[in-house]
Amino acid sequence: MSGPTVSFVSLGCPKNLVDSEKMLGMLAESGCAIVGDGGTADVVVVNTCGFLSASRDEAIGILRDAADQKKAGEIKRLVVAGCLVQRDGQGLIAEVPEIDALVGVNNRADIVRAVVGEKPKGRIGKASKQKSPTSSDKGGDGRTIFLGEYHPSSWAKDNKSDRSRLRLTPTHYAYLRMSEGCNQKCTFCTIPSIRGPMHCKTVPEIMAEARELIEDGAVEINLIGQDTTSYGQDIGYEPGLAGLLGELNKLDGAHWIRLMYAYPSDFTDEMIDAIAANHRIAKYIDIPLQHISDQVLKAMHRRVTHKQTEQLLEKLRRKIPGVAIRTTFIAGFPGETEDDFVDLCDFVRDFGFDAMGVFPYSSEPGTPAHRMKNPLPPSEIEARVGALMAIQQEVAFARAAAMKGRTMEVLIDDFGRGGTYPARHQGQAPDVDSMVYVESGDFDPGEFVQVRVTGHSDYDLKARPVSMGLPILH
Ligand code: SF4
Repeated sequence: MSGPTVSFVSLGCPKNLVDSEKMLGMLAESGCAIVGDGGTADVVVVNTCGFLSASRDEAIGILRDAADQKKAGEIKRLVVAGCLVQRDGQGLIAEVPEIDALVGVNNRADIVRAVVGEKPKGRIGKASKQKSPTSSDKGGDGRTIFLGEYHPSSWAKDNKSDRSRLRLTPTHYAYLRMSEGCNQKCTFCTIPSIRGPMHCKTVPEIMAEARELIEDGAVEINLIGQDTTSYGQDIGYEPGLAGLLGELNKLDGAHWIRLMYAYPSDFTDEMIDAIAANHRIAKYIDIPLQHISDQVLKAMHRRVTHKQTEQLLEKLRRKIPGVAIRTTFIAGFPGETEDDFVDLCDFVRDFGFDAMGVFPYSSEPGTPAHRMKNPLPPSEIEARVGALMAIQQEVAFARAAAMKGRTMEVLIDDFGRGGTYPARHQGQAPDVDSMVYVESGDFDPGEFVQVRVTGHSDYDLKARPVSMGLPILH
């Protein structure tokens, strides 16, 4: 059966990207033709992010454009999926009444029904009970809604496996979601209310998915979840993350296995040793710290202190030589004093992260922080974000300059333009970190190449292939 043509927009984080890839796989398997960006399609699907108000604004903008296309008769159906649907499906319909179907994060398996316009079987009752608009809402007739809360059995049956994806990443790297949901209770965060409590895949399921990605051409696997360091706690897997890394290290064909979204307070010595000892595990850690002042960390309910954070980071650098550490901070959290902020600035300047992002605090309805006193004015929040990024820029440029003359292995990420190839060393994650630009050579994406750093341009390094007869300088 040939289904409708579908244009798919994927917003948000790599976990949402994996959902998009899985939904695309199901649509393709059901006979829908997937058209590229800008192609005309019968149906537009937008997989939304609902983490912050800013992501909401981005989604609404895209949905309004698609609604205009529908009003102009250029498309027949508008389907919306993802975290924003889960967080506020009703509000979405109120803002964009042209929406034809809603698919929550726990109803991914219903994407084909939503696209072809099939009514959900016996779900309406259940759905309406759970903050979703009923089919009788004012938003227009014939709307189909697939929306339910996280439930272990329906997750295990319908949503657990991310295998048979239609991947949106380049062939040579992939994201592997080892768990979803989160048991942490950070006071600024909406994710547990959207994605539910932490729920992990088993080691055999993760290994099977990893093998499938490797067979599909991935040489780099990026491990994701909301909180990867708590891996296994909900399924009674005692060895935890350290055990999983040891298992994944046995996989031939994976060159770099990268750990992302680590949580500081649960980072054990066994995990550090597992990263240090296993050669396929990239010497890289993405560990959002959010802040460093004890007063703010407490108000954020991060369950970690300034001292503990410093001890963990010092241990990571001591026990994993050359490890690259990426982090993110929030500036402007309610009650963040000048001293708290100075504390954070000094910490960033002194520690010297390989990569760092800063989020302006966003007051999200439904979170404990939303009700906190002493909110900072937006102008002050913005100023603090700017100040922190300026400090990190100095740090990053100095670190890049210090890399000159170093020899390293890089992964070519794309075809060359003008003889220059975008690439990354193992201390650089895809899509979020800086790059290495390899000047000259003839390479294909997915190739590993030995290079020597010849300089940098802002955050990015410049390098030349060593094999091009350049002497190796250690
Ligand atoms: S660890 Fe904290 S910030 Fe991250 S998803 Fe969980 S609650 Fe949100």
